[in-house]
Amino acid sequence: MMPRSRVPVAVLGATGTVGQKFVRLLADHPWFQIVAVAASSGSAGRPYRDAARWRESTPMPPEVGTLTVQECTASLQGKIAFSALDAEVAAPIEQAFARAGVLVITNTRTHRMDPDVPLLVPEVNADHVRLMECQRETRGWSGSILANPNCSTAALALALAPLHRACTIERLFVSTMQAVSGAGYPGVPSLDILGNVIPFISGEEEKIDRESRKILGSFSGGSVEPAAFPLSVHTSRVPVLDGHMATVSVGLRHSVSPSQAADLLRGFRGSPQISDLPSSPVPPIEVEEKPDRPQPRLDLERGAGMAVTVGRIRPCPVLDLRLVVLGHNTIRGAAGQGIQIAELLVAEDRVKAEPTR
Ligand code: NAP
Repeated sequence: MMPRSRVPVAVLGATGTVGQKFVRLLADHPWFQIVAVAASSGSAGRPYRDAARWRESTPMPPEVGTLTVQECTASLQGKIAFSALDAEVAAPIEQAFARAGVLVITNTRTHRMDPDVPLLVPEVNADHVRLMECQRETRGWSGSILANPNCSTAALALALAPLHRACTIERLFVSTMQAVSGAGYPGVPSLDILGNVIPFISGEEEKIDRESRKILGSFSGGSVEPAAFPLSVHTSRVPVLDGHMATVSVGLRHSVSPSQAADLLRGFRGSPQISDLPSSPVPPIEVEEKPDRPQPRLDLERGAGMAVTVGRIRPCPVLDLRLVVLGHNTIRGAAGQGIQIAELLVAEDRVKAEPTR
């Protein structure tokens, strides 16, 4: 049954990899309705069905296919704008929307580390959303910018949160194997990545370091104090379509056995308000016992792509524990969690629905 009212939303960068995931996940969303799609001037003016080179495995929603792609100007319709823009162009566009009163949920790196911008994994740090009030006060905006973390960080921070809360992480070693879709379209040339591993992703190690500590930090007095642990991060691009995997060794102030750690991860939940959101998987973390899991081909779609799978939890001879974390980079690491953040704003009455046609 169609709900009586939904919140009108725009997708910026709607033709790209993450933008298309937003379009797919927002089709038939109970709380949101896409009223505008925008991209570069090369796409603007064309029907979305012609401008977007559709790469999702389900058909393009017909009601979006007929929308004309617009330029990214703040006069676009929509109370919320999901930004999946190329990071090089995003900052002035997102700021113009926030100034014009729009709630911008950005997937780009541009504003993530601004002290007054909430960087959110809703199950972990929904309380940081209150930073948007400080942001409005300092910047004089009627809208706000809220940020989704980097795609590896979203899954990693979720998997680490129960351990950090119960045992306090003291140090961390992370090595990632990241899918090609994480580089957008057309991304890494096939002749560079097929049958190969590239042990460098520009800027990624720094993002995982600082964003993980901001998310796992504590909010008080109008600011976030980042978690204090040092991270050693290695990132590699691997010939996998979707799904970022991380092998992790973690040192804890209060040691736990692998089975106690598994129980902490399995039992972890966001607040009741977060668990009730349409895009929240329950449980958010699934623990896989088989010794050769998680694997992108087998475990990526858990919780409709929003659950993070953790496996191989075992003792570490150097730190305390070793584990493997897998998350969907364009769902948990981008569009799915961006929508979940928007749902949180609706649940907290920070944005209102409108009657829809
Ligand atoms: P993408 O496939 O390259 O898409 C980029 C989008 O930006 C396209 O819609 C493109 O429109 C638009 N764009 C480019 N230049 C523009 C301009 N001058 N004005 C307006 N729009 C412009 O990239 P993506 O992988 O979807 O990533 C989008 C953002 O999300 C990036 O900031 C990325 O770092 C971040 N992110 C990506 C992932 C992932 O897994 N891929 C995960 C988390 C975050 P045209 O089609 O018209 O060129």
